[in-house]
Amino acid sequence: MPAENSTLANMRTQMDRAKQYTEDVDDNVFTRMKHPERTLTVSLPILRDDGTLEVFEGYRCQFGGARGPYKGGVRYHPSASMEEVIALAGLMASKTALVGLPYGGAKGGVQCNPKELSRDERKRVTRRYTEGIRRMIGPKMDIPAPDMNTGPQEMAWMMDTYSVYEGYTVPEVVTGKPTEIGGTPGRVEATGRGVAIITDRILTHLDRSVENATVAIQGFGNVGSWTARLLAERGAHVVAVSDVSGGVYDPDGLDVVGLAEHVERGETVTSADEGDQISNDELLRLDVDVLVPAAVSHAITADVAADLRADIVVEAANGPTTPAADDVLVERDVPAVPDVLANAGGVIVSYLEWVQNTQEYTWTLAEVNADLERRITDAFDEMLAVYAEEETPDLRTAAYTIAIERNATAHSYRGLFP
Ligand code: GLU
Repeated sequence: MPAENSTLANMRTQMDRAKQYTEDVDDNVFTRMKHPERTLTVSLPILRDDGTLEVFEGYRCQFGGARGPYKGGVRYHPSASMEEVIALAGLMASKTALVGLPYGGAKGGVQCNPKELSRDERKRVTRRYTEGIRRMIGPKMDIPAPDMNTGPQEMAWMMDTYSVYEGYTVPEVVTGKPTEIGGTPGRVEATGRGVAIITDRILTHLDRSVENATVAIQGFGNVGSWTARLLAERGAHVVAVSDVSGGVYDPDGLDVVGLAEHVERGETVTSADEGDQISNDELLRLDVDVLVPAAVSHAITADVAADLRADIVVEAANGPTTPAADDVLVERDVPAVPDVLANAGGVIVSYLEWVQNTQEYTWTLAEVNADLERRITDAFDEMLAVYAEEETPDLRTAAYTIAIERNATAHSYRGLFP
């Protein structure tokens, strides 16, 4: 049994809430859909640079594969427990179904603090982890990708380690690679681009404009910083951002390009000479048009939901809002665009990378961005249509209604083995 309020318990609650709005979903199929198919735990003995040995734990969960190969990222984080990884894999199964990709859902993680690892140590962790899970991944089986604290370099090491065992180069075993070795243009910023597109869409839908909209972003890693830059490009004022060191605030808008360059040099947002210092809690409660949680799960609890002053929430992180917080937001009439849609840009462009790799054909950045925009806005429109037609309490329930129906249909066609 997952602990109360864990990401896994929350995900199952979200699915249960949507079930009543679905059509033709068999109860037995639905029961299956709430359980992961398999989860592997691997011990990773790693020689630290100082000569001592440390054993890290890593995981890969394949949650559901009814609609195609398992797909999902790998995160390096102290909170990457087995249960958290299972929940995040479940979110991926809903995300790929919602945006119509021919994939199931998976997730991986290594429980570690990557900020305490040197580059060489990260490389050893990545290679050992890849060896540990290599029997369960593969271009037609399960395709890892970046997530928190992993990026093109880790994907290059994963691809190389897998390829060494196969005896030839297998680019399509992971997505999010450097472009020089089979990555696609547009993947690094894809999740942030999707968040920016969806923020623009929800504002337009509510008869407002992204132009001059004020935005606060919790988290300034890959997703938060690209969301900030791409929203600023669309004319929004990103007035606050934060990271583990705390937040910075400027009511006239921060120089997010400068901040991103500062952070890319290994610095924190609070050590840049930008805006006034604020706490993470203050950032979540700022009076802004849009609040974007782009960090770990559970940032928006019922308490935060009760006092936040943003008009709209757009979830760039996975699992940032608890079900109790969802209830408060519904009561307060604050729309929240759910993670499974808002941050789907990453996996959409991962799919485009995988398609290019399997066809051994490359696309331009303009083609990739246009395809991303079409897929994510189509899914947004479908979610809004279900929200209006089924009168679901919130957008998350509408999104899950679609995802559950698609996964359930696939299960029904394929049947139960044996
Ligand atoms: N880690 C990203 C996510 O949570 C991307 C997964 C992928 O590209 O497979 O959606």
